[in-house]
Amino acid sequence: MRFCLLASGSSGNCAYVGAGSTHILVDAGISAARVVRELEALGVRPDAIRALLISHEHGDHSSGAGALAARLNCPVYVGARAYPLLRRALGGWPHIKTFRAGEPFAIGDLVVEPVRVFHDAVDPCGFLIEGPSHSGDGRVSLGLFTDLGTVHRPLLERLMGCDALVLEANHDVEMLLSGPYSWELKQRVRSPVGHLSNEAAAEAIAALARHGRLKVAVLAHLSEENNTPELALAAVRARLDGLPSSGEGLRLGWAPRDRRSELIEL
Ligand SMILES: [Zn+2]
Ligand SMILES: [Zn+2]
Repeated sequence: MRFCLLASGSSGNCAYVGAGSTHILVDAGISAARVVRELEALGVRPDAIRALLISHEHGDHSSGAGALAARLNCPVYVGARAYPLLRRALGGWPHIKTFRAGEPFAIGDLVVEPVRVFHDAVDPCGFLIEGPSHSGDGRVSLGLFTDLGTVHRPLLERLMGCDALVLEANHDVEMLLSGPYSWELKQRVRSPVGHLSNEAAAEAIAALARHGRLKVAVLAHLSEENNTPELALAAVRARLDGLPSSGEGLRLGWAPRDRRSELIEL
């Protein structure tokens, strides 16, 4: 399996995941032209994309869904309860499949399980994606969780099986509180159904490095106003520092908003 975040943040999200001959995208908050350009740069033929998954109805994840699906000629997978809210973003594209949290489905060599998260959307999901390892000698699991206010205990337990995790590290709490947002927006971001702080992401990643299988963590959905990659990485490293040897083998990266991240092979 390999993956790359083509764009990440409130200005637009899209992730690529591939294994064997199966290639999929998760979220469509950037233009189809930009997605095609990034796929070609990765050496992935746009017409090889088998599916587009949408995590929730917020525009930074869904606004380009219909146009992108039409450009790639692939089905769009959406949450059954989010579907009515996505009709406009889907622009009449007819090939829609609905999913429910907790009910896994297969796309080629990949098995996808939508997992419900705490976020202020109607049916917000992260995804656990399982598929063959890049070396071909086993199966690996990737978690994609970019908009969530809380990593609650049941979610953390589900993430213990992940070899790699893309996790939101949205804001530094100090920067958020002293920053330009209105009081109402600050409260929305900080709430348990808002966005994950660096500290909360760091705590989850340290727990997974200590007790789980985690070998790769990519920090995502960083706020432009209320965070910096340096602060987000430092928060995680500070938590990992206190760990015995299990934390040392963790590969840590972050996803930019305006260009693709590195391509990671699992
Ligand atoms: Zn978002
Ligand atoms: Zn959202």
